[in-house]
Order: sequence, then structure tokens, then C-alpha cells
Amino acid sequence: MDERIRHDHRLAEAEALERLRALQPAREVSQRITERALSLAREVRSTRPAALSAESFLRHYGLSTPEGVALMCVAEALLRIPDPETADALLREKLSAGQWAKGGGQEAEDSWAASAADWALMLTGTLARWREAEAEPVAQLKRLAARLGEPVVRTAVRQAMRILASQFVIGETIEEAVTRSRAFEAYRFSYDMLGEAARTAEDAARYFDAYSRAIRGTPAGDGVSVKLSALHPRFEEAKRARVFAELAPRVAQLVRLAEQCAVGITIDAEESERLELTLDLFEQLSRGHAIGLAVQAYQKRALAACDWLVGLRRRVSVRLVKGAYWDGEIKRAQQLGMPDYPVFTRKPATDLSYVACARRLLSAPATLYPAFATHNCRTVATIFELAGDRPFEFQKLFGMGDTLYEVLSRTRAFACRIYAPVGSFTDLLPYLVRRLLENGANTSFVHQIADPAVPLEALVADPLEALPEPYSPDPRIPVPRNLYPDRLNSLGVDLARRDVLESFEEKIRSDRGRENLGTVESTTAQELDFSIARAVSAFDSWTRVPPSERAAALERSADALERRMQELASLIVREGGRTYADAVSEVREAADFCRYYALQARKHFANPLALAGPAGERNELSLQGRGVFACIAPWNFPLAIFTGQVAAALAAGNTVIAKPAEQTPRIGFRAVELLHQAGIPADVLSCAVGAGEAVGALLVADPRIAGVAFTGSDETARRINAALAARPGPIATLVAETGGVNAMVVDASALPEQVVDDVVVSAFQSAGQRCSAQRILFVDEGCAARVMRLLGGALAELKVGDAAEPDTDVGPIIDAPARAALLRHVEKLRAGARLIGEARAPASGNYLAPVAFEMPIEALPRIEVFGPVLHVCTYRRDSLGRVLQWIRETGYGLTLGVHSRIQSFVDAVVTQARVGNVYVNRSMIGAVVGVQPFGGEGLSGTGPKAGGPHYLFRFATERTLTVNTAAVGGVTELLTRPLN
Ligand code: NAD
Repeated sequence: MDERIRHDHRLAEAEALERLRALQPAREVSQRITERALSLAREVRSTRPAALSAESFLRHYGLSTPEGVALMCVAEALLRIPDPETADALLREKLSAGQWAKGGGQEAEDSWAASAADWALMLTGTLARWREAEAEPVAQLKRLAARLGEPVVRTAVRQAMRILASQFVIGETIEEAVTRSRAFEAYRFSYDMLGEAARTAEDAARYFDAYSRAIRGTPAGDGVSVKLSALHPRFEEAKRARVFAELAPRVAQLVRLAEQCAVGITIDAEESERLELTLDLFEQLSRGHAIGLAVQAYQKRALAACDWLVGLRRRVSVRLVKGAYWDGEIKRAQQLGMPDYPVFTRKPATDLSYVACARRLLSAPATLYPAFATHNCRTVATIFELAGDRPFEFQKLFGMGDTLYEVLSRTRAFACRIYAPVGSFTDLLPYLVRRLLENGANTSFVHQIADPAVPLEALVADPLEALPEPYSPDPRIPVPRNLYPDRLNSLGVDLARRDVLESFEEKIRSDRGRENLGTVESTTAQELDFSIARAVSAFDSWTRVPPSERAAALERSADALERRMQELASLIVREGGRTYADAVSEVREAADFCRYYALQARKHFANPLALAGPAGERNELSLQGRGVFACIAPWNFPLAIFTGQVAAALAAGNTVIAKPAEQTPRIGFRAVELLHQAGIPADVLSCAVGAGEAVGALLVADPRIAGVAFTGSDETARRINAALAARPGPIATLVAETGGVNAMVVDASALPEQVVDDVVVSAFQSAGQRCSAQRILFVDEGCAARVMRLLGGALAELKVGDAAEPDTDVGPIIDAPARAALLRHVEKLRAGARLIGEARAPASGNYLAPVAFEMPIEALPRIEVFGPVLHVCTYRRDSLGRVLQWIRETGYGLTLGVHSRIQSFVDAVVTQARVGNVYVNRSMIGAVVGVQPFGGEGLSGTGPKAGGPHYLFRFATERTLTVNTAAVGGVTELLTRPLN
């Protein structure tokens, strides 16, 4: 793959756009295009959509209406829900939100059944109308459904969903698809096998069979689109070696089969982080074989990718699409703190990119055969203009853009292929929702052509005219660095890039060769005594340093941490046994803590708060440091939590003795060094290392310590609490963040694939050695079998091993005693619980293979099992109360996950939970500073939450100042007030 493709990946948007401008049609050509597009659009709009089409559908249920949104929710979930109760709960909730039957009367609003009936019949009725049926049978059906009640309604809605589905999916099997496609004589086809990406080897094998069958069943001349992520459970850059060893031969086999059958194969485009890998695979597969590739114009590197394809000089067909994962790309780049987005933030910029790419693809007719996937009149007109008599084809989605192509076919000849999804209805619905989102977005042509309020002139205008001059990205989507209005976001590292992974690996290997991480000498009692004394005497001056200066030093510290990303990540991997991804998020979190507390200090500590009171008096409240804080951190976030505690204490004006865990002293040392270099005086912050029972205990027993910020186990927290209580002198402040017995509750409306993705991350990332990690999965028995099967398969795909290797998913357990305790626990489970699945761990080394067991609720552990062991318990829908009670009775309250599509279920769990951090429909780890302030209640900690707006207050003492301003003679402000 070409270096330019990599370079352009996250190019500044304005720069990426400049290149595209040069490739746009000249003004007079653009005018011609506009005219053509306009006459096309006029005809499209004035033509009544045939049968049910996406256009007419969106006209009725736009994304911006509650009905449209409810419809998406129902469509996405309904057909997979196994039990009627859950299905009814979903329908009841979603269907009561909209005004389904316009003029349906009061009764429609009174009963969900009636409104569901309306809704179902609106759909079927609309279909019926679209199919030019009489309205009367609809009214009859409606009356009937209202009389018969819920089961009939449920069936009607399911039926409506199926009818809807059949408009967008050509068939459940390839045979059905091929038969149905015969009705579209003028078109060629490319069949797409629907489904989620593979999570397990079993999924991948099933998809492989589906593709093989599809290729065999496809008529010569038609094609099959292949999603690589469906053919391998780990189609990721970090797994490059496996992908080439396992996936490449599989695809090659399909390519050969397709050649035998004279069927075209096109590799579909997926998320941008898979592009490098896709292109490299494509390069290999296209040697000697004519295969196709999809290119997404919304990526900034689309043009570079097209240039690369031209340069390959191989017979290749290229499908140019605008791109379907735009919203996901934006979200992901923000979450990962990427320097910029892989995609354009403005839709017209994507349109320009599309034109530029089209021009490139048309420039090599001897080798490239371009296919332009579009439902947009202007794009169609542009392609005709650019192509002249060079060969190309259009592509459209099945069930979409029908009117456009029908209108077009009246005036001229062209080749068009239908991209036609094939698959079962349950697989289809998430696909459908994706397409509706894509085409129902306000910026989408399909959406706008259906909306008579949008003037056609605007709709077909040259996209250049819609762009600001000079170009700037959409201000509502700032680069991830500027995500927060008042502070910088930490910078991430793109671990989906091969060169980045390689340079990390090299750094870690060379550091390992250079430095032996033997034991670090403990701080002696005298040294500790000296440090405390120094911190006591430094306190007076540090607490008087203006908060803005303290904040500035912390902001410089954040910059320094980020600058040393690779060095620190290497140390975290080597000393803490964390994987690359974990290490990078450690450094980011540490930097975020520094910037966040700096901001809070500026906000709350810089100026006293003026308080209202009687005339002649000034009252104010100010915040001051308390004295010397002991910051005691655990090994499992050796940089982030360590730095966070220290930054908070310093920001609030305290001096600090920081004690890293005995397992990770070097990381603590290095962090303190960096803070010193950034301007925190040496006497204000010092590091004490050594065993908790020795150095830690001495530290907290010292009466000169005004407060303790502790994160670790609840046993230790209790010990520290007792030690503080036993000291003479002032009562110290204790902020303690401790462990949890964290559960996730999943109902039958949840999507099992999503659940398992999130469970694998929550329970096994960092070898389960996160306080937030999931220990327990409560899963509704309706979907339990599928979830457990997927979970077992996903566990088998995890690589356990040396964290220094870039493809490791799960690193070691922190030390031998911890591992021994976990092993004992697992042995007990093996004897008494049912094994769901496990990963394989290397025979030597301090590893523990991630594992999941099923057991009844009575057998679940009520203590924290700090490792990659998941306890799964199924429950019946009507016993949710017992599950929630069990969670409460553990006494812990740190994190909780919920997976459901039913808001009332989510609400029931959330309102009954006594838990610090609740996550819905996502993983339950990875809290972000200032976004998900973190910390538990009950046995899980005292609060306030780290990375939250109230944290610094706990490190401060409050003082008021009252001045009698009338003392000198009178209440001047009363006497000098303006007349009237
Ligand atoms: P730990 O309690 O063994 O040690 C934590 C720190 O306390 C270490 O620095 C240790 O040296 C020190 N320490 C131990 N005994 C001490 C004593 N008597 N006096 C003073 N200091 C003492 O915990 P760990 O094994 O390092 O960390 C894992 C635990 O931390 C888990 O229980 C996990 O859930 C919890 N944790 C909680 C959070 C949170 O935010 N709630 C975050 C990370 C970890």
C-alpha cells in the first residue's frame, strides 16, 4: 500500500479539500451538469414512486419524526426478540410515542394496542395504498385488530416489518434472490450476504459457506460482494499475521470459485481502520485475478486510494460509494482522541471527493472498470459528463433510487447494477436501519428528493457552492482535540496503523534489552520522615501560589505526558503488563486528569465566592489546601490513577507524598519526575516507594498527613481508615476508591453480538484487572443460549500472552500470588459450575486464560474476583427484581452495565441500582475524565468521583471572610445608590 494513503488518512480537512478543488469540472461544465441534474430531479420528483420505495417510505416516516425513530427501534429489535412479553414491551413503549394514525381519534392514543394496530396497519395500509389496493379492507383490518387485541397486533407488526423488509432485501436465500431478480431484466446484480461481522470461528465458517453458496447460485455476469470482517473473527490491523495466514487463503478460494462461475467478486468497504489491511489483502488477491474493490469517497484518503488503484495497472473493477459509516467514524475518532477525522465533516466535501475520485477512476479505462453507486441526480449527471464514452456502470441499492433510474432509462442507455442484500429477516433489520439512517439523514439526497419543501435547485447545486470560502470544517464537529469547550482533550495514538504498532513494538523491545526491571529499593523510614517534613514546610508557600499558576504547571505536565507517550507506554507495558491499547489510554487519562483538575482549580479556587448578606458587610468563601496529602495508588492504573490523585491534591493547593503500588514503582517515579520538570517544586511533591504494609502504613500513620487519597482494595481502605482514626491530632480526610462486584444485566431485546463485544471488553480487557471490570453477566433466558455460544466462541479468539507483542489481547496477571488465588477460584468453579468457554494461555508465565462459567444466582461470588473470570447467570424476565436485589445485597456499587432496547427496562435497572457508574448498551469500562466521572458507593468507595466536578473540593478546606464595610462610619452602598 502506498505511503500517501497513510499520510492522507487524518489530513487536515482544509488541506484535503484543496486537492479536490483542482479536480472539479470547469464552471461551464458544472452549469451543464446542473441543468441536466435539475431536469432529472424534476422528473423524479413528479413521478409517483413505484410500489413502496425508500423515497416514499422516508416521506412518511422521516428520521426527524418520533414515528420514524420509533420505527427504527422496532425494526432493529422486534424480529429477534424470542418471547412475546418482551416483544409487547417494546411495541408498547415505542408505539405510544408517535402519532401513528393521523386522525385516528382518542382511542388510538388511549391504548397501545390500538395505536400499534394503527401503526401496523398504517404500514401495511400504506403498502396497500402504494400497491393501489382499496382503502376499505384496511379499515376493516384495523377494526378487527383493535378487537382482537395484543397477539394480533404483535403478529400484524411483525408482518408489517416483514413486508417492509422485503422491499429492501431481495430474498432470504440466494435462490430466492436470483428468482426475484429476473423481474429486473435491465439490471445486473451484485448480491450482498447480510449479517454482522463474525465474532467467532463458527460465524466465519458459516459466512464462508454462505458466500460459496451464493457464488455458485449467482448467474454468470452478476457478482457477489464480500465483507472481509464476516470471514474472520479478528479482521484487525493488530492481527495482520493471522489475517494473512487465515483470511487471505479463504478469500482466494472464493475468488477462484467465482472465476470458475464467471461471477464477479467485490471486496466491500468497512470501517476506515480496516482500510490499510483491506488494501494490502486486495493487492495480494488481485495478482492474476480480476476482482473488485469498493472505495468510500467520504474518506480523506479516497483520492490517494484511487491513484493507487490506477497505479496497480491491474484489471480491477471499483465501486465508488460515498460511505455508510460516517457517524460511526466521527464518534470513534473522538473517542480515540485522534488528531483529525478520517472522513470529511461536511457532506458537500464528500461530494467533491466523489467527483475527484470518479475522474481518476475513469482515467484508466484499459484497466479499471468503475461502478458509481449513487441515488443522486447530480452525481449521475456528473458521471455522464465526465465519462464521455468510456465504459462504466451505475449501482443502486435494491429498493432505493428506483424512480431515478427508471426516469433515466427513458432517455438514455446505461449499465446499472443493483446491490441486493440477501439474508434472513433478523439479519436484515440492522442492515435496514443502517440504510435508513444513511439515506434518511438530512443531508441525504434520497431524503431530500422526497421532501417537497427542499427546492430542487438547491438539491442539485454544485457542491462547491455549498462550501465556505476559504474552506473550514463543520464547526459543530470540532477535531477530537477540541471536543471539550474549556480544555484540550488528550491526544490518542492510532493503533490501527501498522507503522505505529511496529514502532511501539520496536521501542518496547529495545527498552527491554536496555533496562532490567529488577526490584526498586524501598524508601526508608528516615527518608519518608524527611520528605514529609519538607512537604509540611513547603505547604505554606505552595498553597499561596495563585491557583492559575498551579493549573499552568499541571497543564504543562499534561503536555509532557503526551509528548512522552511512547516512552511511558513502553514502561507501562513492561512494568505493569498492560497491552498497548491499555497503556495508551493510561497516558491519555493521566493527561486528561491534569488538564481537568487544572480547569477546576481555575474555576473554583482562583477567586472567592461572594455570598449574599446584609448591607454593610462583605461575605466570601474561599477554598484552600489542607496540608500534606498522601496519595496511594494501585498497580492496575499505575500512571492514570497515580497522576490523577496527585494532580487533584496539587491543584487544590496541597503538598503531596505519592506512593505508587509496590508492583509499579518506576511508573510512579517517572510521573513525578515529569511533574517536577513541568514546574511542580521538588519539595511540594515527592515519591515514596515500597510495600503497602511498610511504607504505606508509616505514611498514613503520620499525624502530619492531613488527608489521604487512596485507590485500591476495600481491605486496605479499611486498614487505612483505622490507622487514620488511631492517630492523635486533627481528623484526616480520606478519599477511598475501592473494588466492585460489577454486573451487567441483559434483556431479550438486546443484540447478542453487541452484548458479547461489550462483555469481552468489560470482563477480559486488561486481564479483568480493572476495578470497573465486569464480573457477572445476568442474561435473560430468552437470548442466553445465543449469547453464551457467541461468548464461548469469542473467548477462543483471544490471544493471551506477553503484553509487549502487539497482537496480544490479554496480558499477564500482575503477580504470582494474585494468579494463584485466581487459579484456586477457577478450580472451584470447574468443579461446581458449567464451563461456557475459555481462551488458551501460554504454558509458562504468569498468565490466566480468560474464562466464563454459568451458575445459579446462589453460587455467584459476592466478593471481588480480580481477574479475567466471568460468572454468568440466566434469569427469567419476571425475576428481574431478584437480580437487582442480589446486586444491591453485595454491598458494592461501582459499575453496572445494561443492555436493552426497552427504555422501561433500562429505567427499572437504573432506578433500583445503587451504583456509581451505569453504562447502557456499551461496555462498562473506560470511564473518561470529565465525561464519566468515576467512583463507587457502598463498599466501593467514599466518592466524590475522580475526574468529576466535585472531586477537588474534598481536597480543600473552606474559609469564609466577613468584613464589616460599615465599620468606618456607614453603609456607603446604601447612601450612594442611584436615585430611583
Ligand atoms: P491494594 O489495596 O493492595 O493496594 C493499593 C495501594 O495501597 C498500594 O499502593 C499499596 O502499596 C497500598 N497499601 C497496601 N496496604 C497499605 C496499608 N496498610 N497502608 C497504606 N497503604 C497500603 O490494591 P491493588 O491490588 O494495588 O489494586 C487492586 C484493587 O484496587 C482492586 O480491589 C480494585 O478494584 C481497586 N481499584 C479501585 C479503583 C477505583 O477507582 N474504585 C481503581 C483501581 C483499582
